[in-house]
Amino acid sequence: MKSKKLGLNSICTHVGEVEDKQFKGAISPLYMSSSYAFEDVEVKRYPRYFNTPNQEALCKKIALLEKCEAALIFGSGMAAVSTTMLAFLHKGDHVVLPQTLYGGTYNFVVEEFHKFGIEYSFTEGFSEKDFSEKIQKNTKVIFVETPSNPLMRITDLEMISKLAKKHGIISMIDNTFASPVNQTPADFEIDIMIHSATKYMGGHSDICAGAVAASEEHIKVIWNLGKNLGGSLSDYTVWLLERSMKTMGLRVKEQNKNAKKMAKWLEKHPLVDKVYYPGLKTHPDYTLAKKQMRGYTGMLSFEINEFLNVSEFLKSLELIKPSMSLAGVESTILSPAKTSHGLLSPEARKKQGISDGLLRFSVGIEEVADLKNDIEIAFNKIKK
Ligand SMILES: *Cc1c(COP(=O)(O)O)cnc(C)c1O
Repeated sequence: MKSKKLGLNSICTHVGEVEDKQFKGAISPLYMSSSYAFEDVEVKRYPRYFNTPNQEALCKKIALLEKCEAALIFGSGMAAVSTTMLAFLHKGDHVVLPQTLYGGTYNFVVEEFHKFGIEYSFTEGFSEKDFSEKIQKNTKVIFVETPSNPLMRITDLEMISKLAKKHGIISMIDNTFASPVNQTPADFEIDIMIHSATKYMGGHSDICAGAVAASEEHIKVIWNLGKNLGGSLSDYTVWLLERSMKTMGLRVKEQNKNAKKMAKWLEKHPLVDKVYYPGLKTHPDYTLAKKQMRGYTGMLSFEINEFLNVSEFLKSLELIKPSMSLAGVESTILSPAKTSHGLLSPEARKKQGISDGLLRFSVGIEEVADLKNDIEIAFNKIKK
């Protein structure tokens, strides 16, 4: 198959299938073996080595989706993040990261890096100046996350890769929020793409997994540490993830559409103060988002009037579930001030632009009319 010529949905559906030579089944057979004969001394297959038939198959799909030579699949997004960072950051090295980071990544950096003698600096914002002023002689990695959580700020990927190249630094992106459907950082020469496959790749809120895509050379470095840390994903879950990814293009494009409609509707709603969605012209990074993204994701945030009771609002929703995770086919919502950013002081939250009335909305594939209705009913309940 000339896989490089295939379009998104064909890659999602077909690339990297394990051929069922025996029965000619339509889908990849699942190989649960943890032991394989040494047919070839070059290939010692073992689940922790990331090279069972199902693991290798899914890696091909993810690599092609990210326009990379190779990929690895991990037991969680954090296993992918931590293994990749530690593979390139050694004692005495330094990494630059944005202040606004996924909570798990932030905790990993501030709680663990000192044990390894790794230094780090958080940027104030997302501009070239913000990143370049934090670069030191020992900086080895720039790590970005765009769109950011929860305000959906956009970091210029071309700017980051140029800056990294100028200083001989490796650039990494957590591409979870965009998914490979909406953003291909390799187009802007970002070196390493990381995903929490728990989110859009899995898409059904029933799989915990992670992925990394990069050049063969970089993947080899990550693999070397990965096999020692032991964070690979079990074949059964790999197989489920392969199934989920067949519909990733369909799901995410529908979520993009729904989110844009919901963002426009919320923006006009009298009880909503502000909407943060990069696909809206009112978003500060609209032009940048348009330049580097094909779609604006199913994620948005909105602020409801201060005098309204956020907890009551969330309790009054019936279709949209108040929930920690995101990117599933079912819509979910949360209050960052009460959950993901709950451990920050009110001042620190304010500095990041996270008000008590802010809600992060992961838009699913339900009918938009039903989602609007659900929100309208909840608003009517708390207005009284
Ligand atoms: C969820 C998430 C992670 C962590 O992934 P897990 O699968 O929960 O380990 C990392 N980055 C982002 C942006 C996420 O949303």
